Amino acid sequence: MSSTNNQLLWFRRDLRATDNAALYHALKAAQAAGGVVHCVFIFDETILAHLPRQDRRITFIWDSLLELDAALKALGGCLHVRYGKPLTLIPALAKQLGVSAVHTNHDDEPQAQARDAAVGQALQAQGAVLATYKDHVIFERSEVMTQQGNRYSVFTPYKNAWIKALTPFYTQAYSVAQYAGAFDGGSDGVSKPSTWPSLDSMGFDDTCRMVTPAGESGAQRLLAEFTSRMGQYHATRDFPAVKGPSYLSVHLRFGTISIRQLVREALVQQDTEGGKVWLSELIWRDFYHQIMHHFPYAMQAALKPEYQAIAWEQGAAADERFAAWCEGRTGYPLVDAAQRQLNQTGYMHNRLRMVSACFLIKDLGIDWRRGEAYFATHLNDFDLAANNGGWQWAASSGCDAQPYFRIFNPITQSEKFDKLGKFIRRYVPELAPLNDKNIHAPWLAEGLVLKAASINLGETYPMPIVDHAKARLATLARYAVVKKAADA
Ligand code: FAD
Repeated sequence: MSSTNNQLLWFRRDLRATDNAALYHALKAAQAAGGVVHCVFIFDETILAHLPRQDRRITFIWDSLLELDAALKALGGCLHVRYGKPLTLIPALAKQLGVSAVHTNHDDEPQAQARDAAVGQALQAQGAVLATYKDHVIFERSEVMTQQGNRYSVFTPYKNAWIKALTPFYTQAYSVAQYAGAFDGGSDGVSKPSTWPSLDSMGFDDTCRMVTPAGESGAQRLLAEFTSRMGQYHATRDFPAVKGPSYLSVHLRFGTISIRQLVREALVQQDTEGGKVWLSELIWRDFYHQIMHHFPYAMQAALKPEYQAIAWEQGAAADERFAAWCEGRTGYPLVDAAQRQLNQTGYMHNRLRMVSACFLIKDLGIDWRRGEAYFATHLNDFDLAANNGGWQWAASSGCDAQPYFRIFNPITQSEKFDKLGKFIRRYVPELAPLNDKNIHAPWLAEGLVLKAASINLGETYPMPIVDHAKARLATLARYAVVKKAADA
């Protein structure tokens, strides 16, 4: 058996041993060539350098890798785990293991694209190749285009074309087990968790964990629980105090579940309103990924160029307001509850992401990119395409975004989506004794009511840091540059 017939599987955002496109292709290629498949995950020191010591995502990855290693062992393989720069480590490992190809799944984030291009060149220089596959989405890049061959920038026609293009081929699972005989046997003796770089040595605490269970088993448990309530998703998804959504986003982010499996589950329930709406959300995910591919500049600037002329609030007062937003002390209870949920758990409900992002941009007049960066650091499920899409939607500068004059009222949003103040009471306990009416805007409560609830505004809970009505007018004036550009 020639060692150069061996293949290397490089795991990144696809931490599962089942239904994994690159793993399937690596095994198939190895079997055809009479070689074996080795598997590796690299903790990329360039990415890790920017993360806080208490980052729940790193422990989630770690726990998922332990499970992945066990799953690979059950199939006859094992997982190498390294810490460093992929540009150095992948070619070195490929040489050491004598592989002819490194297989990996697509990562379309601009920085990942640049990294993969460099790794591909380095491999080529030593006579090996980097083979890449679609795995993370159903349709990627330019797979769904208009009849004229143009990219879509509006969701509904994209969704219609996506549904029309979907055939069972796109949702069928990659049968990894079919070629499991090509695994390396896990026999090199060095690739076991005790030899992996420890969390501590990479600069992370291993005590800080998400509520969400990690690994494929965690994802499957969540999915099984969600499928029983998917039919009601349309009615429950907007209320943060209710268990409405699936909570699968972190698993989709790190690939501990296959998007193909989720779409199959959604298709089973297409006769229910909830199933239809949930499928639509999965299509939004593909939509934002293809936006990232077609508009990479939008990952740093307003997608609609005329929105780049907006002058955002700056200076010490803006910094103080930004800090108040981050820490959940704006004086607007629903926004504060949302931010505290993010800070305490790493998750934020979708309705609240919209409300809180809109508040930062259109009540505080702060550049959406500052909020985007804060979410990127704190969200367990941070995904560049979806996060950027969400923020540009709120800022009105993205594809199919809300119009700039649509400004959420944080009080009416609260009254509508947390009517009984249940969610607010969970995350802003100092307001818990207030009645259901006043909890949405405590500064409007009578003094006696506040006193009875032991609330001293400005002391036990902040006064609102801006007046929403005035902020709304200021935002319309701020966005006037966009209207001028559009009218010109
Ligand atoms: P469910 O409601 O169960 O939805 C199922 C899946 O569909 C989600 O897991 C997600 O993968 C996808 N999805 C749902 N809504 C959207 C959407 N609007 N755009 C793209 N995909 C969607 N989602 C992320 O995965 N990562 C992010 O970094 C992210 N940042 C966001 C920032 C802002 C400002 C906004 C408004 C939205 C953001 N979203 C992001 C989208 C959405 O809020 C989350 O996907 C959702 O809340 C995750 O919870 P869930 O898994 O329970 O979702």
